[in-house]
Amino acid sequence: MQSDALLEKLALGCRIIAMNGHSDIVWGHMSVRDPRDPQRFWMKGHEIELDEVTPQDMVLVDWQGKKLAGTRPRHSEYPIHSEIFRRRPEVNAVIHTHPMYGTIMAYMDADLQPVTHEGSIFVPPPVPRFNLTTGLIRTQEQGEALAQGLGSHRALLMQNHGVVLTGGNIEEATMLEKACQAQLTAMAAGTYRVTPPWEALEKQQTIYRPERSRLVWEYYSRKAPRW
Ligand SMILES: [Zn+2]
Repeated sequence: MQSDALLEKLALGCRIIAMNGHSDIVWGHMSVRDPRDPQRFWMKGHEIELDEVTPQDMVLVDWQGKKLAGTRPRHSEYPIHSEIFRRRPEVNAVIHTHPMYGTIMAYMDADLQPVTHEGSIFVPPPVPRFNLTTGLIRTQEQGEALAQGLGSHRALLMQNHGVVLTGGNIEEATMLEKACQAQLTAMAAGTYRVTPPWEALEKQQTIYRPERSRLVWEYYSRKAPRW
């Protein structure tokens, strides 16, 4: 993919997750691995909201955090991205945001469960929770610990902070927030029942099979406001 097309897709991805509850003023970021050098990545620049970004707002960053291209400042939490890319060679996109329901789920004393279909994307196995710190992830050591906590999972809940998602699949990014909202609503309403694990696994293979992600991407692409 040409860099221009890649940056357009990254900007559109930022706007799509913003449409789906991931906005938090100018905080929160999304990145894609640079196809020309796997040890570099393009990341949303700082001082602008996810729903405002254009392809020109991206910065190119290496694993040491050095900004190689772009005019905007780099987010301080770049080690979330660099250390996941370092540990997970199959991952080509990383999201870190502070969505309302995902962040509440991250500080609740309860695990995310497959209450609605969306939860079945993530559970089973259980979604890990990162609690080494509730502060910003600004050092390589903190990023390493976070990437280790994520392991091979698709999502990580950061206690009293936010969420991390991997894979570059916008469907998953939007579904995590819906899954957390559904469960928190059920918990507030009273007792509730959970999808049996075997059915949740089946849904991962049927309802949310990878080729369906294209339909979700195309739908949100039609809806997202352009620059
Ligand atoms: Zn953060």
